[in-house]
Amino acid sequence: MAKVTKRKASVTVEPVGDRYEELRQMLDDRRRELVREVQGKIRDVRAEGSEKPHEVLDPGETSEADIQEDIEFALIQMKAETLNKINEALARLDEGRYGHCFECGDEISEQRLRALPFAVRCKDCEEARENAALRERTLAQRRGSSLFFDMRG
Ligand SMILES: [Zn+2]
Repeated sequence: MAKVTKRKASVTVEPVGDRYEELRQMLDDRRRELVREVQGKIRDVRAEGSEKPHEVLDPGETSEADIQEDIEFALIQMKAETLNKINEALARLDEGRYGHCFECGDEISEQRLRALPFAVRCKDCEEARENAALRERTLAQRRGSSLFFDMRG
């Protein structure tokens, strides 16, 4: 009898829903875009390959065409790998594990995920990590130079 009010309550109680939908939409868009690009590229390469199958090219032209083809394939491979990552991200999203910081477990901001869909750390943890790496490099350099001075006596 109080069905309507109950339903309303359950909708407002779920603040995670919006974020999930937004992230899913974002990943889906990227996936569609990549699929289209990969398929388009594969079509291009095939079309070029079958266009003039019997034409004799001089060695220079042949190798240039080969290089171009290699680049095209490398691009396709890169995009295919990105596509795999997006599929993984979508699977993680469904399990509720996507968009959370690997270090502190906090939600990674949507803005950050839009810029870096495969980010595994929040901005703070990433910066802390970068600073730590930088400190380590600086320390290593200092150790290196002090060693150098020690050796000179
Ligand atoms: Zn974090």
